[in-house]
Amino acid sequence: MTDCDVLICGFGPVAQLLALMLGDRGISTIVVERADEPYPLPRAAVIDDEVLRIFQGVGLDAEVLSEAQVQPGASIVTADGQAVEVFRSRVGLLGHPPLVSINQPSMERTLIAALEDRATVDVRWGTTLEVVDRHADRVEAYVRPTGGGRTERVSARWLVGCDGGTSAVRARMEIPFEGRTAPQRWIVVDVLVDRPLRKVPHPHFVGSRERPSVMVPMSPGRHRWEWMLHPGEDPAPFLTFASVRERIVPWLDGEEIEIERAVVYTFHTRTAAQWRRGRVLLAGDAAHLTPPFAGQGFSSGARDAANLAWKLEEVLHGAPDALLDTYEQERRPHVAAMQRTANTMGAFVQATHPRTIKARDLLLRSMDGTRIQDLVATNVKPLPAYGDGAFASRPARLPWRRSVGALFPQTGRLDDELPRGWAAVATDDVARELLEDAGLTVVDPGADAAWLTRHDASWALLRPDRFVFGCGGIDDIAPAVRAWRRITAPAREAVVA
Ligand SMILES: Cc1cc2nc3c(=O)[nH]c(=O)nc-3n(C[C@H](O)[C@H](O)[C@H](O)COP(=O)(O)OP(=O)(O)OC[C@H]3O[C@@H](n4cnc5c(N)ncnc54)[C@H](O)[C@@H]3O)c2cc1C
Repeated sequence: MTDCDVLICGFGPVAQLLALMLGDRGISTIVVERADEPYPLPRAAVIDDEVLRIFQGVGLDAEVLSEAQVQPGASIVTADGQAVEVFRSRVGLLGHPPLVSINQPSMERTLIAALEDRATVDVRWGTTLEVVDRHADRVEAYVRPTGGGRTERVSARWLVGCDGGTSAVRARMEIPFEGRTAPQRWIVVDVLVDRPLRKVPHPHFVGSRERPSVMVPMSPGRHRWEWMLHPGEDPAPFLTFASVRERIVPWLDGEEIEIERAVVYTFHTRTAAQWRRGRVLLAGDAAHLTPPFAGQGFSSGARDAANLAWKLEEVLHGAPDALLDTYEQERRPHVAAMQRTANTMGAFVQATHPRTIKARDLLLRSMDGTRIQDLVATNVKPLPAYGDGAFASRPARLPWRRSVGALFPQTGRLDDELPRGWAAVATDDVARELLEDAGLTVVDPGADAAWLTRHDASWALLRPDRFVFGCGGIDDIAPAVRAWRRITAPAREAVVA
């Protein structure tokens, strides 16, 4: 007997989301968090449409959006002060705005409050995980009140380390955290503002010759400034509120501000060498760290949670546990693509050599107002499409060619029409009947039928995280259903019911 099916170490936003998804599935879950309360200061500044869709899946997109601020795009400012749009934020195939400023503590409050009605989730604040013992059929963790006290053993069928960049679970598993730490450090300043800043209406990456900086309107009433420190530079003179105010004043146009905090951050690009060791898994910052230039740290962790939740459910219902190996197989290359995007943005902003600045600004100026800018601004983010993993057939090699392996669109609110778990969409009665005979609920894709037509398909079998497991014509249904049964077989009825 184990105390729970899933033990989660850490209760940051990735764990909160994972716990919500496990709670929705009725999976008994214990969460241990060493702090007594949620981290009170803002970290993540923006989230994207994929994450809002994940929030939609747990019924929280509207609530998160009500405390957020939709951003129209993001620009890089050349050393001579020309703002060139490099990201354009249009509501597209995922049904949500692609760039949304948030306040991480309020977002976390929303997630935590929603957990109150997930009866199978037990959150233990002020509890530190110290030791992990792995067994063939369970994991045993030794936890203790953070302030000191008696050690308790918690046994679980699976342990997920969502315990951040310095993950104790990763350390106990002796899993290397490979990658690099940037030589530059950044001063991060959070400011309360009485109204949106007129001079900074959307995120600006300022490629100044002397001191690169980033400015981001956060959730309503907040704004963030970041200034780069040169390698070896002493941060102390920059951290007094008087010097921070002096730097901010040129960007104000009569707005009132209150400085909340000024801290120094070092940015890392790191990935755990293994995301699964037996019954222990890593997710979120514990598995990977990304510099914040593309706003993808938490967003990547949210995708981990969505990928892992349904696979844990399947395996707990008796599916072969090899399904859990596809978690890293799918997520690792996607995280690496996000890290590359963030580092490219970082290289653009952090340039200090005069020749590099000249070349960058020439490139930015020459694309401003052209078709190339359109292409860059709408395609800068890696696509939500996996190259290999839990799919009926191998996805196409090039991400933009993928049908199987891609996140199915929802131009309206298709997900609200789909049952939780596996589902199918079909535009053709024969396909619908065959998929229903296999035990699937089949929904009319509405406006998203266009996606099927574009991929020469009349149906798609969607995984619980809405990635396309299989799609095609009538002859492709039987092999896809067989592949689906192979990875989910004994659990299938429970999942589909
Ligand atoms: C300056 C900055 C800007 C950022 N901007 C963005 C952005 O714009 N967009 C974005 O998506 N992301 C951004 N991020 C990243 C984002 O904040 C993180 O990716 C996110 O908070 C990670 O969530 P997590 O749940 O994985 O880990 P964390 O939030 O770090 O939570 C881990 C939890 O584990 C607990 N813990 C640790 N060890 C133990 C233990 N032994 N026992 C019990 N509990 C333990 C900790 O107390 C902590 O609460 C930014 C980060 C920074 C620093």
